[in-house]
Amino acid sequence: MTTQPLIRLDGISKVYHADEVETHALAGVTLEVRQGEYLAIAGPSGGGKTTLLSILGLLDSPTSGEYHLDGHPVARLTAAQRAQVRNRRIGFIFQAFNLIGDLTVQGNVELPLAYRKMPASERRRAAAEALERVGMANRLNHYPGQLSGGQQQRVAVARAIAGRPAVLLADEPTGNLDSVNGAAVMGLLRELHGEGATICMVTHDPRYAEHAQRTVHLFDGRVSEEGPG
Ligand code: ADP
Ligand code: MG
Repeated sequence: MTTQPLIRLDGISKVYHADEVETHALAGVTLEVRQGEYLAIAGPSGGGKTTLLSILGLLDSPTSGEYHLDGHPVARLTAAQRAQVRNRRIGFIFQAFNLIGDLTVQGNVELPLAYRKMPASERRRAAAEALERVGMANRLNHYPGQLSGGQQQRVAVARAIAGRPAVLLADEPTGNLDSVNGAAVMGLLRELHGEGATICMVTHDPRYAEHAQRTVHLFDGRVSEEGPG
């Protein structure tokens, strides 16, 4: 076991400037996530959950504070290095699935692997394996528009795990699903955690936060409460 956390945030703040209005989306967030941990991030709308996930996923940079990933300060990475770390180390699952409509299921799952220049045969194998894992191996040549929401989210999970990322970041992954499909996707995340995945999941559904080992509550950009899942 390593003692160093996979993720360490120290005093992370994020200020947005829009139309001469300053929004303090995050105001001094300090947080550690260990390898293999399942963390839920809860709290009301506007609390800063998506902002926090965007920073964790290197989609956005904090205004101040430090972020160490695998012990390395993220701020020192060049833009190209950031893109590479994002592609190789991080898997994203979004509320709106964000699949590409004119690519097949297989094409969607292979896309991030193509960005990292994985050979075509290896890519096909990794995509097939991930789709098998989420129970979608029988839909390789379908397009997202031909799938239900629950099926689309399972494909999005396959896309996120195909590259074997260090951490899965999920932003309200059940937000667009009915309760049956929502429960299925949450069950899948729980299984992946059981197999060793590190997961940070945003949810405002307390039932789903219970799947996690630990929950942090974000309110007005601050961690207001931290407790067991
Ligand atoms: P949550 O995901 O918890 O609902 P967000 O992280 O999306 O919260 O938003 C936190 C705060 O930051 C909100 O007040 C929101 O309006 C503001 N915010 C988020 N993104 C932007 C942006 N790109 N520009 C300006 N303000 C933003
Ligand atoms: Mg949000």
